[in-house]
Amino acid sequence: MGEKKIRFACPLDCFDGCAMIATVKNEKITKIEGDKDHPLTGGFVCQKGKKHLERMYHPDRILNPKKKYRGKWIDISYEDAIDEIANRLTDIKDKYGSEAVLHFYDSGYGGLSKTVDKMFFNYYGGATTHTGSLCWGAGIAAQKIDFGSNQSHAPEDFLNSKTIIIWGRNPADTNIHLMKYLNEAKKRGAFIYLIDPIRTNTAKIASEYIQIKPATDGALALGIANYLINEKLIDRDFIEGHVKGFEEYKRYAQDFTLDYVEEITGIDKERIKKLAQNYVGNKPSSIIIGYGLQRYKNGGNNIRCIDALGALTGNIGISGGGVNYSNKLIGEYIDGEVKKSDALVRNRRSYSKTRFAEFLMNANNPSVKCLFITKANPLVQVPNIGKTIEAIKKVDFKVVIDMFMTDTAKYADLVLPTTSILEEEEFLYSSMYSPYLNYSNRVAEPLNNIMGEYEFFRVLAKKMKIDDYPDIEREEFFKRALRPLMETFNVSYEYLKEDYFTINNRDIPWKDKKFNTPSGKYELYSEAAEKQGMSPIPVHIPSNVREKGYNLRLITPHFKNSLHSQHYAFEEGIPTAYINNNTFKENNLESDKLVRIKSKYGELEVKLEVSEDIGDGVVMIYEGWWHKNGSVNFLTPDYISDMGEQAAYYECFCRLSQ
Ligand code: SF4
Repeated sequence: MGEKKIRFACPLDCFDGCAMIATVKNEKITKIEGDKDHPLTGGFVCQKGKKHLERMYHPDRILNPKKKYRGKWIDISYEDAIDEIANRLTDIKDKYGSEAVLHFYDSGYGGLSKTVDKMFFNYYGGATTHTGSLCWGAGIAAQKIDFGSNQSHAPEDFLNSKTIIIWGRNPADTNIHLMKYLNEAKKRGAFIYLIDPIRTNTAKIASEYIQIKPATDGALALGIANYLINEKLIDRDFIEGHVKGFEEYKRYAQDFTLDYVEEITGIDKERIKKLAQNYVGNKPSSIIIGYGLQRYKNGGNNIRCIDALGALTGNIGISGGGVNYSNKLIGEYIDGEVKKSDALVRNRRSYSKTRFAEFLMNANNPSVKCLFITKANPLVQVPNIGKTIEAIKKVDFKVVIDMFMTDTAKYADLVLPTTSILEEEEFLYSSMYSPYLNYSNRVAEPLNNIMGEYEFFRVLAKKMKIDDYPDIEREEFFKRALRPLMETFNVSYEYLKEDYFTINNRDIPWKDKKFNTPSGKYELYSEAAEKQGMSPIPVHIPSNVREKGYNLRLITPHFKNSLHSQHYAFEEGIPTAYINNNTFKENNLESDKLVRIKSKYGELEVKLEVSEDIGDGVVMIYEGWWHKNGSVNFLTPDYISDMGEQAAYYECFCRLSQ
């Protein structure tokens, strides 16, 4: 048989949404590469994307349902696994109610077909599910308050910016297809700032790198704002026409003098002044925000303070402007069976995702009898893993669906295998940056007849006699989900499968200066925020107080070669802690020895690397490492940020010893 080239797409929870091509020979996939025809990703994929093939054929992949029997895993048939799950779920619902099941899910795989997990539990009657977010919730909530929804400029529009501030994002490692626009913008004369507590790889393309003390981003933005207001450099027309609450904000911001802000942020006041002057003097200016600076107790307000700069200077609704955090575009036009099933749940019980362990330990009436985990590896990714392990052990029946025996799967009673993207037909989109919808062909039949979630939950629903559950083929499921998009933009299903769809005329958010807020204006003052118990205006909440005995702040960003824990699966060795020379000396360490890092919640052994890329008093370790290596979330607290119920991972203080 000849060689075939089949198009598919990356399902990882990433900004970029790459399209890829698989080469298939004799029913076996021999190669995968980027699809050069994709308008945004153009054939270039990262190391994580290249791993899809290796992961699919990896010898450690789970190929059969597994049951823990007397402490050991045994393979069982799908029939037995489905029987057991059906019986347990029916029994639990009859005795305790459907909310005695907690369905924990996340974004480990972004395809539409696997969203049926939520639908199944809605038809079941409504399991306990989370509110809040481990990842980006504070920023999402903040921009909803300010703008009314979450939108970004089209990637090409960055070419129209004369000043670009990359604030806490590291596109060189985690949003690689933004780099070509940044490089091109720079070639055309744009001045690019990078503001980050870590001198990341992105600093290499920045015109100027500004190192900021962690958790002080809001104070810097307030200092810039106050300077611009005092110097009369703000855009009066924009403020008078389109901004609510300027006077209240101005009164608050006036305390943030350059001297005061220099003290808080550690940035020389002359540099702050110059940054402010450039941002307003060399317009249009855009800001590109990352997800680290909202992982503090003051995370939502950090984003609100930065958003305010766009509004004060009229850099909103214009080409080359904007404050870009996320890009909820395609998802706004997805509907269908999953959304419809939400209406079936009358009294849903919820818990805050960051406080997962706390909830499991204290839930009553009913307590959690079954934990069902899909597309997630909470025992690596949630904060305070030690406490979470103890909490999970208390649950009678735990089911995990995954491709590999993850740290979470190890604690389950039943583990079901699942399909990789190469074995599924899918539609995918990102809500972070890429404005494209990608179609992904089923490149190969699933190994060992593994059932993907679409088939599995359909069979389970039948077994449990959930008669209303949509017993429809996948194509019909996709068509129903995509109907609003097809109708609104007058495109056919076939077109969506064959071409790369994006929404035109959304290049510049808020072009018409009509915001989705209650007032219809950009809201510097938000009554909605006030009603929810938050400050109505963006504020700086000091968050740099060390806990006694723990003198260093731990920052745990994403590593470029792993999407959270997924690509650390087969990694040997232990993590590296990065500190600068001052921290190294002050803590009396020796460079050739391993170091113990300890917080109030746990401790790890790590390697040590001294790097001037790190600020004073800060330790950096990449997140995602598995338990066998040393997971950073053994150290992190389960604090929640000021908005969006965001996990405030970076409120983690620690000490180093040898
Ligand atoms: S992880 Fe992101 S950049 Fe890498 S291949 Fe997937 S979509 Fe592309």
